[in-house]
Amino acid sequence: MAEPRSHRLPTSVIPERYEIKLTPDLTQWTFSGEVKIAVQVHQAVREVVLNAAELAIQSVSIRRADGGVLHGNAQLDDENEQAVLSFPDILAPGKYSLQIQFTGALNDKLHGFYRSVYKGADGADKPLASTQFESTDARRAFPCWDEPAFKAVYQVTLVVDEKLTAISNARVIRETVIAGAGKKEVVFADSMKMSTYLVAFIVGEFEGTAPVTADGVPLRVLAVPGKMSLADFAVDIGKASLEHFSHYYGIAYPGDKLDLIAIPDFASGAMENLGAITFRETALLVDPSKATRAELERVADVVSHENAHMWFGDLVTMQWWNGLWLNEAFATFMEMLAVDAWKPEWRRWDSFAVSRAAAMQVDGLKSTRPIEFPVERPEEAAGMFDVLTYEKGASVLRMLEQYLGAERFRDGIRLYLQQHAYGNAETTDLWDALEESTKQPVRALMDTWIFQPGYPLISVEKFGRSLRISQQIFRYLQDGSDGERRWHVPIFLRIGTKAGVINKTLLLTEKAQQVELDEPADWVVVNAGAHGFYRVRYSADLLAALRQATMTQLNPVERFGLVNDAWAATLAGIVSLTEYLELIDQMAGETDVNVWSTMIASFHQLHRILDDAQCKQLEERLYAVLSPALARMGWSVRPGESELEGQLRGDLIGALGTVANDVATQDRARVLFADFEKNSESVDRNVIPALVAIISHTGGAAEFDKFCTRFKNAQTPQEETRYLFALANFADGELIDRALNLTINGEVRTQNSPYLMRGILLNKHGRERAWSFMKAHWDDMNRQYPDNAIPRMCEGVIGLVSSELEHDVVKFFAAHPVKQGSKQIEQHLERLRVSVACQERWRSLLRR
Ligand SMILES: [Zn+2]
Repeated sequence: MAEPRSHRLPTSVIPERYEIKLTPDLTQWTFSGEVKIAVQVHQAVREVVLNAAELAIQSVSIRRADGGVLHGNAQLDDENEQAVLSFPDILAPGKYSLQIQFTGALNDKLHGFYRSVYKGADGADKPLASTQFESTDARRAFPCWDEPAFKAVYQVTLVVDEKLTAISNARVIRETVIAGAGKKEVVFADSMKMSTYLVAFIVGEFEGTAPVTADGVPLRVLAVPGKMSLADFAVDIGKASLEHFSHYYGIAYPGDKLDLIAIPDFASGAMENLGAITFRETALLVDPSKATRAELERVADVVSHENAHMWFGDLVTMQWWNGLWLNEAFATFMEMLAVDAWKPEWRRWDSFAVSRAAAMQVDGLKSTRPIEFPVERPEEAAGMFDVLTYEKGASVLRMLEQYLGAERFRDGIRLYLQQHAYGNAETTDLWDALEESTKQPVRALMDTWIFQPGYPLISVEKFGRSLRISQQIFRYLQDGSDGERRWHVPIFLRIGTKAGVINKTLLLTEKAQQVELDEPADWVVVNAGAHGFYRVRYSADLLAALRQATMTQLNPVERFGLVNDAWAATLAGIVSLTEYLELIDQMAGETDVNVWSTMIASFHQLHRILDDAQCKQLEERLYAVLSPALARMGWSVRPGESELEGQLRGDLIGALGTVANDVATQDRARVLFADFEKNSESVDRNVIPALVAIISHTGGAAEFDKFCTRFKNAQTPQEETRYLFALANFADGELIDRALNLTINGEVRTQNSPYLMRGILLNKHGRERAWSFMKAHWDDMNRQYPDNAIPRMCEGVIGLVSSELEHDVVKFFAAHPVKQGSKQIEQHLERLRVSVACQERWRSLLRR
């Protein structure tokens, strides 16, 4: 009996250069294609195995160097997504040209070569075709060696309708009209040597900005017609970040042009195809006069992130999908560096604390995973696009950078990129390069963070003139397991003594370590600068000393850490809810937007956990802390205030009108929104989302209809999603049902529907209806939505906080596994468990 075929490709035949010619039909949603692949046969074979999925192969032939041609047969292996090409003769080692003709369908699942339909300015439906190949979907567009280590050169030719625009990775070298056919042939230059998942082709009606020169190449933003007024912001950050990275990496941008392309239907945020980066519209197109600061930051982040990948990911690529974290963590880290350099007033590394906290939330679960873990089958890579890969990965890189020093860290990165340019590398290669440039034991340090799940809780106690610093694993649900786990923890200390303030960095590798001081410490900040990926627990005396002078001794990001760690400890049952709320009572003087964001997030979570009577009690308490903070700022923009203050005003108004349920705020929000409807300039852009949140929270059918209309007629992608997702917040049962229907009736794009569904699950008034609806339409949703969206939608189950619902949720997922995100589902269930456990623990609290 034959061995079952592996899903991994044999390495006996290696591709070197592809010539791909595709003719998409945007009326029948099909395409036909021909690919010529220059291959090197290393070992004599009779069969050539490569990847193909959902393709029909019409003919196969192979040409020897001497000109002789062999015709072959294709056998498709659906299970392994492979095509086995067999030939009548043995192929001896040497160079060959493989030629395959094939056809396929432009699918509606937003992967491979897929279709998109949008409304044109004239109201008519317009077709578009785009690609999304990462991780393993290039094989749906053309037969290829679809593994990242098979790097090759690609020369693409697209045959398209004369009036359409065709875009690929490289610049156009020739466009020829095909006489009488209404078509043209667009020939693109050779790409650099790269992996299949970075190949792209896009066909449709497009407009582009005038090219600007960035790092020596032309850069443009493209979108479907009528949106060019939303493109300038992306051009600015696109150029600035590309030039920033070229300097940082010390290597010129490796492509011959750079197009940033907005696609109306897009499954993820963006995709780093070399030279032809694709984005969902909200991540690229924005009107700076209407968007909030946070929405602008999102565009700046995503553009920078993708540009960072042109080197880290595209020029040097992971050997296999287990190395995905390095691509994504690094691009996330670099995105912060570039945006921080571009707009220092945004204090991007401070707001990165919010991302770090999101990663720590998941990584504090027993069901977390190490950043890097073995990936056997390529589809398992799909489950790696999560906060652990991106945010935890970026956080530990930032911690390492701060520990080694920014310049020495950069030198190591340069060395790594030089050593592996146009090739593939593994995590260990980066540690080699960093050790070579810094002479520090980087590998031993990083192995504890990359291959071990979780993170430590660092405890600090004072004994006379010494401090005792110790580590133990942090878990929300404590069962005593994994207590022996140790990390190599860079500890950044700031110590106040009679003799002045001392800064000290040490590496904690054991369970505990003693730090001797010349003078006793008056106060201590552990994790100074908040770059460390760990939580801190101060002994009672040290905590009291810190709190007494919180405003003077802690910078904003350290105050963020103090509050966020306290909330995590509260959820874990280490600190009582009463203690946490006492800390909050003291925070009315807080002025930092990020510190407020972590507090407000905890209020929303409390609101989901507590019953109605408890929530009433909580409202008064939240009002007492939120109201003075807003009163200090006022409802209108003050001359000279920063953009961050504008954002804070919006956040405070939103919290007052929703979780604090303040009637006066709600009334005023309605008045302001009515003014805004008459004159869109009358309200500051940073306050609008708060008004929308409050009105959806308190409104009825008239408001629901209004938001529905605004969603459908939105002038910017940000407005579109703002009003769409607000539909999830209404309290009335009928309105919840209407919102639920929108998730599957085709009125909302499948790139957005799953997130509307998640929002309704998180709505305390809608959650039970939403859960029943999701169960009833599960098959439909799985058919309609992009695969990667299903586990993200399911995150909404963390809102189903009651032991009965929890029981039902667990039962449901046992019977309906989500194979592309089983780990994420496990994590959602554990987060729900944490909330239900708190609900039980806090049952008797806050009652009068
Ligand atoms: Zn990325």
